[in-house]
Amino acid sequence: MVKEIYIAGEWRLGRGGTIKSYFPADNSVNAEISTASLEDVNEAIEKAEQAWRDPSWRNRLPHERARILYKVADIIETRVDELSRLQTRDNGKPLTETRGLVMSAAATARYIAAACETFNDELTTQRASDFMTLSVHEPVGVVAAITPWNSPIASEVQKLAPALAAGNAVVLKPAEATSLIALELAKIFEEAGLPKGLLSVLVGRGSVIGDAIVKHPLVRKISFTGGTTTGRNLAHIAAEKLITTSLELGGKSPTIVFDDADIELAAKGVAYGIFSSAGQACIAGSRLFIQHKVYDRFLKRLNEITQNLRVGHPEKTGVHMGSLINQKHLESVDRYVNLALKEGGKILTGGKALTDGEYAKGSFYLPTIITGLNNSAQTCQEEIFGPVLVAMKFEDEEDLLKQANDSCYGLAAGIWTENFRRAWKISRALEVGTVWINTYKKFSISVPFGGFKESGIGREKGRLGILSYMQQKSIYMGLNEEPNAWAE
Ligand code: NAP
Repeated sequence: MVKEIYIAGEWRLGRGGTIKSYFPADNSVNAEISTASLEDVNEAIEKAEQAWRDPSWRNRLPHERARILYKVADIIETRVDELSRLQTRDNGKPLTETRGLVMSAAATARYIAAACETFNDELTTQRASDFMTLSVHEPVGVVAAITPWNSPIASEVQKLAPALAAGNAVVLKPAEATSLIALELAKIFEEAGLPKGLLSVLVGRGSVIGDAIVKHPLVRKISFTGGTTTGRNLAHIAAEKLITTSLELGGKSPTIVFDDADIELAAKGVAYGIFSSAGQACIAGSRLFIQHKVYDRFLKRLNEITQNLRVGHPEKTGVHMGSLINQKHLESVDRYVNLALKEGGKILTGGKALTDGEYAKGSFYLPTIITGLNNSAQTCQEEIFGPVLVAMKFEDEEDLLKQANDSCYGLAAGIWTENFRRAWKISRALEVGTVWINTYKKFSISVPFGGFKESGIGREKGRLGILSYMQQKSIYMGLNEEPNAWAE
């Protein structure tokens, strides 16, 4: 049976034909899903506009909006096993990882609910006494949320929760590959009591349906997570419409091992930073810089750890890396490995797809370490979004910063050292939005996240993340009984 989509609070077949959702590990069909047409886009957005303007939503008190999000968090938590499995079926990540993402989505909903309840407008101070001023925050209206396939439930709640808490309506366009989990999320918001029309989940191709959503005149904000090329395209559209964007884009993050680092801790952390999610993470630590004195020793240990990683069926326990999202993506990863060889690189380990036995029907790739390249190589400058690490050497701090900052991206970085002064100095000098010191890929919803340079614009998360879905208004209230004096 073809799966229905969620158009302005109604479950029904979209008018845009159907797509199939595949389980990346064996290419079996999860479901056939109907997709939105351009008429569906118009309908969803027009009803979203009515829904956010409706006094029953506009005048709803913050704690009443928060109640919906608390309920969303509770439902997600009680259904964690089922939702993790569904997300694994959608994108091939191991169950342990998808479980983490599902729990993070619940935590986000709960945190934003609390932020919504405790959010204050400001009484701005005045020296003059014949008026008082307030700074208040209004919703922006209809928000277009567009998400990628790598961590869908987490990145979707990261947009839906603050946008709805702020009083907006949201039209979500998930990645085609991971539409199932987004549709399930719509059911959860509906069950939690979100009024009709405030959320639509429009399945369809980004270049057609995504494009139509963001270009619609009633859409007043674009919240996008995905690749830099798409993000740049959306920024052009937003500039034309004079609306704001939040762009969470790609990365090529440096991970740095100083000669005083705890080698065992660092080697395990570096392996986790690049190979978890099979490298399909915006923050993957894909450029490794090792200080020359420990280069051989560190690489030897990292290689041992990497060779012991288990690539396998994502529903099995003890698997470190599941399948890549699909064969097309695997071919793109493999092309980069071949490019690295042409550029003079050498494969220390990995460098090929797994194609026999249990791997035959999926898109599995070995964790790969490449040496012998300079940071200027194309392989070191472009995002591969797969399990490929390029290891390079550095002499001293100056040499390191020159190489690490030589990138169009600036999403994240990792530093491994026992010297806290050095860690502080280098973390301030790196041109990135997030730095991990002696750890990697740790997240907290209370900490803002976003990129420098071509890794994005704006910040998500944090108590004030909700502000990016609001517009500030200043109100002057006259206290004087005299008429305004003419300016002299
Ligand atoms: P993508 O190709 O940019 O797609 C992301 C989303 O945009 C998908 O829903 C896609 O729809 C849609 N889309 C594509 N073209 C569009 C257009 N012209 N107009 C409107 N929407 C459009 O990225 P991806 O390959 O799915 O995801 C991988 C990228 O996301 C990587 O670069 C990764 O670093 C980045 N990422 C960044 C973060 C972060 O927080 N900074 C987090 C996760 C991922 P379809 O699926 O239908 O094409």
